[in-house]
Amino acid sequence: MSFAELGLSKPITESLNALGYSKPTPIQAQSVPVILKGKDVLAAAQTGTGKTAAFVLPLLERLRQQKPSQTKEVKVLIVTPTRELAAQIDTNIDAYAKNLRIRHQVIFGGVSAKSQIRQLIPGCELLTATPGRLLDMCSQGMLDLSKVQTLVLDEADRMLDMGFIHDIRRLLKLLPKKRQNLLFSATFAGAIRQLAQSLLDHPIEITV
Ligand code: AMP
Repeated sequence: MSFAELGLSKPITESLNALGYSKPTPIQAQSVPVILKGKDVLAAAQTGTGKTAAFVLPLLERLRQQKPSQTKEVKVLIVTPTRELAAQIDTNIDAYAKNLRIRHQVIFGGVSAKSQIRQLIPGCELLTATPGRLLDMCSQGMLDLSKVQTLVLDEADRMLDMGFIHDIRRLLKLLPKKRQNLLFSATFAGAIRQLAQSLLDHPIEITV
């Protein structure tokens, strides 16, 4: 199975070739087609399995098929527990989207909010963020999440372990009710199941 056979178009497969990715990993082979169809997903995958590309690639493909946004509207929101993970995801997005005109941005705590706000002003379709800084910016009116089409919770088990459940619940209230939800977690333990049940609509379960 090739990346093209999973439904990804040339601008994306060419960037993957340039990175030396010869074929999809198992989590990518299972996730890409269902995410492209707009379905909700509950995926159990450890770091190192290629899970980041498993959600980023189909979401880039879906954004590519839409008109570029001219406003501050975020269409895809990726939430992840730490600034290192957020930065890493955005670096991957940069590489995968190199042949696309998609505005993406990363925001996380522990650094000055000023430059992050400046970068958000021209508009950003794909935002990667840690929960605390994301909510700060929303409460200051810097970010409009009312047009989000897809929410990704990455490393959801770690977010729960780090006590982010209240932040996530607050965040969900800022999003439109009708949207695609993707939950990636290393495990499907009790609390994750509960979150999945309240968040996901008829999810496709993927385990690798
Ligand atoms: P992740 O599980 O998302 O942290 O990815 C682990 C590493 O695998 C990252 O360095 C990716 O760049 C790399 N990677 C992801 N997908 C592929 C692939 N299909 N072929 C080769 N390397 C990949």
